[in-house]
Amino acid sequence: MSTTIAPSVVVPSANIADLQPSATIAVAALAAQLRAAGREILDFGAGQPDFDTPQFIRQAAAEAVEAGATRYTATEGMFPLRQAIADQASALAGGRWPVTAHQVVVSGGSKQSIFNACFSLFGPGDEVLVPVPGWTSYFEIVRLARARAVGVPGDPDQGLRVDPDRLAAAASPRTSGLILNSPCNPTGSVYSSDEMRAILDLAAERGWWVLSDEIYRRIAYESAAPSALQVASDPSRLVVVDGVAKAYAMTGWRIGWAVSPEPLARMMTALQSHTTHNAATVSQHAALAALSRVGESDDAIATMVSAFRERRDAALEVLGGVPRLRTVQPAGAFYLFMNVRPFARDGADAGGEIARRLLDEQGVALVPGSAFGSPDWIRMSYAAPLDQVVEGARRISALLHDGVR
Ligand code: PMP
Repeated sequence: MSTTIAPSVVVPSANIADLQPSATIAVAALAAQLRAAGREILDFGAGQPDFDTPQFIRQAAAEAVEAGATRYTATEGMFPLRQAIADQASALAGGRWPVTAHQVVVSGGSKQSIFNACFSLFGPGDEVLVPVPGWTSYFEIVRLARARAVGVPGDPDQGLRVDPDRLAAAASPRTSGLILNSPCNPTGSVYSSDEMRAILDLAAERGWWVLSDEIYRRIAYESAAPSALQVASDPSRLVVVDGVAKAYAMTGWRIGWAVSPEPLARMMTALQSHTTHNAATVSQHAALAALSRVGESDDAIATMVSAFRERRDAALEVLGGVPRLRTVQPAGAFYLFMNVRPFARDGADAGGEIARRLLDEQGVALVPGSAFGSPDWIRMSYAAPLDQVVEGARRISALLHDGVR
């Protein structure tokens, strides 16, 4: 006798009722699915370096495990790692104010650090300014905190960056925070010190919290990308988020951190103590090696950044030949953001249409700009081998040439 099991009806709670799954992760999953079905797919969707974690870091982690680093640490992370992060932050602040280990909370990736900060600072009735285009998770994380993310359109003539006028125009008496991301995902735009200072000054004047997501800071091509720690004149409402994922090719290790005023660090620690507790202990040891063995890290980062630069230049060279294709000139991160509006039939979602056609007709996976609030655009991640980047750019160029109408 067989019993029939009724399909589950799952009604989401109000907490997640409006939540959208991550579009960038969805593209990677679709590309993997097509590949598993036998199609050759060039995947430029992923937001992660294609390099292996540097050997000395892997070795340090293996040694730590053998030496018994297999148990819990303090919720906020082990002290030597927090001290190394605090030392780096103090150096960026140039001695204008000290940063102590008590201001550092280590989490399971900078994504969790951003969640901790937003969930601790913002709630119902609050508005948070988010430059558009902006990383997809900012909008959903702010929403999870039951606050409202207010998109602030970037200036197309300034690499889609925002400025104090644009922020002031989008602000309201309910504005309580602002998320900055430089170098920016998805544009690769980098704010100069002066641009960042003007924004931080406005935020300080209005009493807004600034969450500066600096996960791509070490991946910069023209000159070093400034940290908010270097330019802020007042750190009392500043949260700087960083991590090892991108610069050290350590996405899978899941280590990020927030540097904030100490009372906020205590709140985020309390929050994290009831969610995930400490970030994986072995990964904390790996991150400590990455941060403390500066010479070796600097060499590894320089090698990866020069490879990214070569790929960026190669992609731009091919795509620069496509008439009417506008791209943001990326000065950091590893993304190329392209406006495909002139090539699409779908006026509402040009990026979605072109991304679908690229996948179907050319076997090229990239992310539609709608994931970042900019549906006229597509994002190509050039964190892939040079020959693939060139081939991918050729295929994009072929589709856009054919598709010109
Ligand atoms: N911020 C930005 C702008 C990102 O692009 C990403 C990863 N795609 C993250 C944060 C999250 O990084 P992590 O792996 O440290 O959680």
